[in-house]
Amino acid sequence: MSLETSAPPRWQPRTQRAGEWEITALSSGWLRLDGGSMWGVVPATMWREWTPPDADNTIRLACRPFLARRGKDVVLIEPGIGTRWAEKWRKIYKIEYVDTLEETLARVGVKPEDVTHVIDSHCHWDHIGSQVVERDGKLVPFFPNARHFAPAVEIAMAKKPGHARAASYRAEDVLCIEERGLLEGFEGTRELLPGLVAHVLGGHSDGVSVITLGEGSERAIFWSDVVPTTHHVQPPYIMAYDLDVVRSFEVRSQWLEEAARGSWLGMFFHDEHVPFARIAKDGKRYRCEPAC
Ligand SMILES: [Zn+2]
Repeated sequence: MSLETSAPPRWQPRTQRAGEWEITALSSGWLRLDGGSMWGVVPATMWREWTPPDADNTIRLACRPFLARRGKDVVLIEPGIGTRWAEKWRKIYKIEYVDTLEETLARVGVKPEDVTHVIDSHCHWDHIGSQVVERDGKLVPFFPNARHFAPAVEIAMAKKPGHARAASYRAEDVLCIEERGLLEGFEGTRELLPGLVAHVLGGHSDGVSVITLGEGSERAIFWSDVVPTTHHVQPPYIMAYDLDVVRSFEVRSQWLEEAARGSWLGMFFHDEHVPFARIAKDGKRYRCEPAC
């Protein structure tokens, strides 16, 4: 059986507005994870239609940062996977350095030095690896002038994950930023900039958060791994990776309901094809309407 995979869809600039914010979907590369793990208890007969797997049962996942701009605020939400990977891990996770953060930022005319804020929803390596780069054999922050924010409990887990969480974190992804005084932890519900709020939820990981921008029908939400793709929109469609499934079910039920009621603009990190979509509800079931 051939394990050759198709090429990932190439990045193209896609921008949406949410109130005063202009939000552009970037790319930081790609990885593949086992489809069964990404879909938890959902039967393969169903998920294979929505996210067709390769011969080895893996599905391709985007690692998609979002650039939110408003006046002098240049905010990078979720840096992404990055290119700091040993060959062994690149092979295991089939990490593809196609349309990297460096390349896609340059394509929208933004220099890493221009970024004023970096927000990490949680500290799993596929979400924050890009915030640290290697230059002349040394690890340095990719965004040297940005204030970086991450959930306090996630910073702690990244530094000392313990056995059950060890495969999901790399300490250097946060230490390099913290050592330079650029990293700040947040807890609970925290307004990081006027109208830009981090909500620590937990479930998928100890401190996974969603990020909201703006208010009312103008509101956008970065779903992170709370809703990893536009197909994961029914509350029980919980990844096998989630630490606390009961908590995941609670927060997903609550936030999907609110997002559908408000017709919020959703920002999806892992969806292979769709960066922006709004969630709607038909009877008891949710569906996603791609926004661009
Ligand atoms: Zn995660």
